[in-house]
Formats: sequence, C-alpha cells, structure tokens
Amino acid sequence: MEIKIPNEVMELIGKRGIKEADVKDVIETAESSNKKIVMGNRNIAKKIIGQATVYVDYELEKGLVRKHATVKSAYSHRLMLGEIVNATDKSDWVCAHCNEPALYGHVAMTYMQVTRNGPAVVCPKCKDSWVEEYLATKTLAAVEGLFEKKRA
Ligand SMILES: [Zn+2]
Repeated sequence: MEIKIPNEVMELIGKRGIKEADVKDVIETAESSNKKIVMGNRNIAKKIIGQATVYVDYELEKGLVRKHATVKSAYSHRLMLGEIVNATDKSDWVCAHCNEPALYGHVAMTYMQVTRNGPAVVCPKCKDSWVEEYLATKTLAAVEGLFEKKRA
C-alpha cells in the first residue's frame, strides 16, 4: 500500500493536530477490514485514536501490484458516535463492508457525558456511521467547544 500525502494536505492536517502516522493507520486499517464509505474512487475511513475519531478522505487507485492512496483531507472529532437514531435520506455513499447504500441520518453523539443527536452518514446494515468533513470541522467542533466551556 502506497500512501501519498500532498504538501498542502500535510499542512492542513498538521494544523488540525493529526499526525502522518495516524493518517496511515486509518487507511491501512480501513483497507484491511474494508470498513469505509466509498463514492467512486473516493473513500472516507475512520478510526478511534486516543481521545479522537480520526477520518481520512482519500482516493484509491488499484495498481497491478498494490493500491495507491492519495490523501485529500483528514479531520477528527472528539464526540463518540453511538446508536443510529434514524436513517432518512439517500446519499451517494456506499458502505464498502456491506456493499449497501449508506444513508443520511442521525446518530447519538456523546461528549463529556452529554448525549445529543447529530447528523451523520449511516449504514443501516452494519450500524456504522461516519461524519463528513464540513460537519466535523464546523458543527461538531462548535458543539465540543461549547461543552468544554460549560465544564470549565
Ligand atoms: Zn455497512
């Protein structure tokens, strides 16, 4: 497995406090378990590393000998994803593990002992869920900040 992280992506993930080793860990785990969502050759995989759930958005090309992954972005959130609450709207994502369409819905999200429902891409079959980048870096980051302020 060859993993390429362009310079501008390295800079972005550095600002987000994500390590290069974490990015490789997420991709390698996803490729060996096939637990990820895919849209064409685009893939989103996640892994809980320390206190955070780290996501990598990457493109995959299958070479003759091995796969080549190009990292498009990486991001994380600290809320823990729980049970699927609902799965209402069609998405263009497919759960690679189940080979079933993934849906937009809501998942129970817990942070600092508080649980709220939040939006996610969910697979009703394996009950896994994924948060897209704009939600993780904007909405969830704001919620985490709010909870931390209340606690402080
Ligand atoms: Zn699934």
